[in-house]
Amino acid sequence: MFAAVARALLLASSRNASLNRFALTHGGRLGARRFVAGESLDAFVPVVRELNAAGFTVASGILGEGVSTEAETEAVCAEYRTLLDRIADERLGANVALKLTHLGLAIDEGLALRNVRGLVEYAAERGIFVRMDMEESACVEPTLHIYRTMRSIGVDNTGVVLQAYLYRAMGDLEALLAVRPNVRLVKGAYLESAAVAFPRKRDVDRNYKALIERALAADGFTAIATHDEDAIRHTIEFARSHGIAARGRFEFQMLYGVRPALQRRLIAEEYPVRVAAPFGGSWFPYFMRRLAERPANVAFILGSMLRR
Ligand SMILES: Cc1cc2nc3c(=O)[nH]c(=O)nc-3n(C[C@H](O)[C@H](O)[C@H](O)COP(=O)(O)OP(=O)(O)OC[C@H]3O[C@@H](n4cnc5c(N)ncnc54)[C@H](O)[C@@H]3O)c2cc1C
Repeated sequence: MFAAVARALLLASSRNASLNRFALTHGGRLGARRFVAGESLDAFVPVVRELNAAGFTVASGILGEGVSTEAETEAVCAEYRTLLDRIADERLGANVALKLTHLGLAIDEGLALRNVRGLVEYAAERGIFVRMDMEESACVEPTLHIYRTMRSIGVDNTGVVLQAYLYRAMGDLEALLAVRPNVRLVKGAYLESAAVAFPRKRDVDRNYKALIERALAADGFTAIATHDEDAIRHTIEFARSHGIAARGRFEFQMLYGVRPALQRRLIAEEYPVRVAAPFGGSWFPYFMRRLAERPANVAFILGSMLRR
């Protein structure tokens, strides 16, 4: 009960513009450093190199979401092109994950489609894959529509995300299977009502495993993005008993700064692990979602602030 209230409060804070401004101006980095891989591209690249050297691939992302003008989206696209150039030039073991509201989805779906298509084609010329993250439930329909549109015109170096907390997730997966999708499966990180999402965690966990099994049994590529050891072991058992080899069919993904020992253990067991590592100055909403996933993180952050 306490955890559910803490989660709701933290997720509500993530969308509060004044808190966001206050934190960025006066809050320093708070404890965000644990989850954010640098405030600039120059700071980010050595982190990617270090992760690559330890056996991980990386999903790189520029922090930011919900921009409100077309000009801002153009600036974001320029930043992503610089990131893609850097990944290609320096041969980093990294792809890119981006948020469509960072590219204009909240302004106009056509604008987001033009922006993301331009970036995915730019990435294709450099042999890089681009995933579209999934945001609040209102974004699901337009995001899937943009994904299907791109696949229908032959833009294939892209993938989407399905969130197990949504009732619709299994139906969305079934509908996507015809195009052999590249899907990242997550539990879901936003504040959603019981009208669209399972309120009880155990239902989310059950649906998550069902989605993993359905996706692995079909064609396509599945990214199992979780820190839940039970779901990870379930995936390994399911793949083993169905003769599904990891390479080329699935990978595990985890967030930068979350359960690093588990990440290393999977690498030692020779499973492919991609670390989702975001960088940039707009870290507040991302940071609040990470705190909401584990209210104990709040105590960790407060403790580290007091120890300074
Ligand atoms: C690579 C990646 C990409 C993602 N992309 C999206 C996306 O596009 N859209 C979206 O809605 N969500 C996304 N998420 C977030 C996801 O939806 C969950 O909110 C998050 O992964 C926590 O759930 P869990 O699967 O780890 O399971 P849980 O059952 O919540 O956690 C399992 C275990 O991991 C620990 N843990 C989980 N999170 C944290 C944390 N922040 N800090 C410390 N310990 C933690 C828990 O304490 C628990 O022991 C992504 C997650 C990952 C790993």
